[in-house]
Amino acid sequence: MEIQFLGGAREVGRSAVLVDDALLLDYGTLTGEPPQYPVGRPEPDAVVVSHGHLDHVGQVPALLRGDRRPPIHWTPPTAELARVLAEDSLKLRGYECTFTESHVQRLGEVEERHGYGEPFVVEAGGTDYEVTFFDAGHIPGSAHVLVDSGGRSPPGSRAESDDGDTRLLYTADFHTDDTRLLSGSTARPDADVVICESTYSDVTHEDRSRVEERFVETVRTTRYEGATALIPAFAIGRTQEVLTVLEDTEIRPYLDGMGQRVTDIVRRHPGYVRNADALRRAKSGARYVTGRDGQRERIAADNEAVVTTSGMLSGGPVLRYLSMLRSDPTNRVCLTGYQVEGTNGRRLLERGNCELDGGVVPVAARVDLFDFSAHADRDGLRSFLDDYRGATVLVNHGDRCPAFAEELRGDGYDASAPELGERVTV
Ligand SMILES: [Zn+2]
Repeated sequence: MEIQFLGGAREVGRSAVLVDDALLLDYGTLTGEPPQYPVGRPEPDAVVVSHGHLDHVGQVPALLRGDRRPPIHWTPPTAELARVLAEDSLKLRGYECTFTESHVQRLGEVEERHGYGEPFVVEAGGTDYEVTFFDAGHIPGSAHVLVDSGGRSPPGSRAESDDGDTRLLYTADFHTDDTRLLSGSTARPDADVVICESTYSDVTHEDRSRVEERFVETVRTTRYEGATALIPAFAIGRTQEVLTVLEDTEIRPYLDGMGQRVTDIVRRHPGYVRNADALRRAKSGARYVTGRDGQRERIAADNEAVVTTSGMLSGGPVLRYLSMLRSDPTNRVCLTGYQVEGTNGRRLLERGNCELDGGVVPVAARVDLFDFSAHADRDGLRSFLDDYRGATVLVNHGDRCPAFAEELRGDGYDASAPELGERVTV
C-alpha cells in the first residue's frame, strides 16, 4: 500500500491522504487569508470522509468539478454538516470559492452514508477495499477510518498477510474522554499501519468536570452581577456541548448564528450523541435568536447568556455582541476552545483588544478561557497508541509531529512524521 500525504502533514488544516493513488481520505481546507488547499491534483476513484470539520471536508465539493463523479462515503451527520460548511464557504468567498452551488448539489448524487461498525466495499484503482467507520468521539458523526486492502479475504484470515494485504487505520481527529455530548473513542480495530493525529501531543487537559464547573460558575456569577456572558462557540459540536452543560442549570441561554442550524442537524441524529434526551432538553431550553426588532440589543443590555459563532471571533453574530458588550468591565467573554495564533480570539486573550468594526478596539469586558477540547491530549494519544505497539505509526495533524514521532520511537514504536507531499510505502 502506498500512502501520500497531500495535506495535514506536520500542520493542522487541509487534511488529505491518498491511498494507492486512487482512494482519498479527507480533503480539507486550511482556513486563512488566503485559504490553502491540499497539494497535487488528485483524481480519486473514491473518497472517504472522517468528519464534518472544514479542515477535513472543506474541499470535497471541488472534487466534483468537470466530469468526475467519485463516490463520497461518510456518516449521516457528516453528510449534512459538509453541506452546511460548503454553503457557508460559498456565501463567504463567493466567486473566489473553488466550487459552485452546482458542485454542492452533486454531493447528493454521489454520496453514500454508512453507520459505525458497518463495513462497506470501496472500489478504487482496481482494488476492492473494505472500509469501516468507528466512533472517534470528536464531534457528532466523527469516525476513525479502517481501510483493509484485502477486502475480498475473510476478515482475520491467515490469507491476509500472505497476500500482502494491509490494514490501515486513519484515526482522524479523536477524543478518548467522555464529554456531556459524546462518548470517547473506544474502538481499537487491528491495524498494520496507523495514521495518528497529534494536535495535543504535549498537552494535558484540565479535568472536564472541573472545566464545566468553572464555566457554569462564571456564567452564573456574571448574570448575578447584572452583566451579560458572551459565549463564543464553534457551531459544530462545541455549541451542542455547551448547551448540554447549561441544560443542567437554571440558565436558559440564547443561541445565535450557525450553531442553530447545526444543533437542529445533530438533534436529527440521536444515535450519534451520548445522551439524546439531554440534547433534546438543551435545545428546547435554548432561545433561538432571530435578530429581529432589536433582539440582540436587548440581550446585550439584560443580564443574559448568549452562545454564538464564531468560536474564535473571526466573524458572525459574536462580533455584533462584542461591539455592544466590550466597554462594560462587568460583562464577560467566555471562550470555549483553543484560540489559534493569529485569530481575533487569540488577540483578545493576549492583548485585551480586538479587530472590530473596521479597527482595533480595547475590550474592557473580562475574558476567560475554558478548555472544552474535542481532541485527545498527550495521555489520550498514548493510551490509544498502546494498542498499536506492533504497527507502523505515521504521525500527522499537529504542530510538532516530528517531535511526537521521536518520542514514540524512543518508546520502541516504528514511528515517523511524513512531510507534505511525501509518499510512504507500507
Ligand atoms: Zn476536527
